[in-house]
Amino acid sequence: MRKKSIHATNFRKVLELFRDDRSEEAIHLLKIIQEDYLELYSENKELRSQIKEVANILDLAECMDFDGQKYWIKEDSDITGPYCQVCYDKEGTLIRLQEREKHWECYCCKNLFAKIPKGITEEKEAPATKFKPPLKLFSSK
Ligand SMILES: [Zn+2]
Repeated sequence: MRKKSIHATNFRKVLELFRDDRSEEAIHLLKIIQEDYLELYSENKELRSQIKEVANILDLAECMDFDGQKYWIKEDSDITGPYCQVCYDKEGTLIRLQEREKHWECYCCKNLFAKIPKGITEEKEAPATKFKPPLKLFSSK
């Protein structure tokens, strides 16, 4: 992306050019200002979406629960997973583990996660959720 910013002095220049009857030059300068504006507009839009993405990642991190081997995601009363701890910690990607008879398997890094015998884990796998208000970065939304 090109680095550009609207030069505040250009607005004054346009006014001066019109006053001096140099409307051709003034129109040309207005076009430049318009281009600068459009560029800033799209840059701003992109930055906003990046902030939103970061906020979503932070939100996700808050919802994640580690059971000692694997990650689970809790949202309200919904629990999804488990997800591979190795892939998430290394790449930040959520890879859902495939359930096998005695273990969970990650199809991505091929790691195996032993299943913890039932009875002991019931409670651990369904932890109580705490209410967390969503991140608010923009007052308009
Ligand atoms: Zn993995």
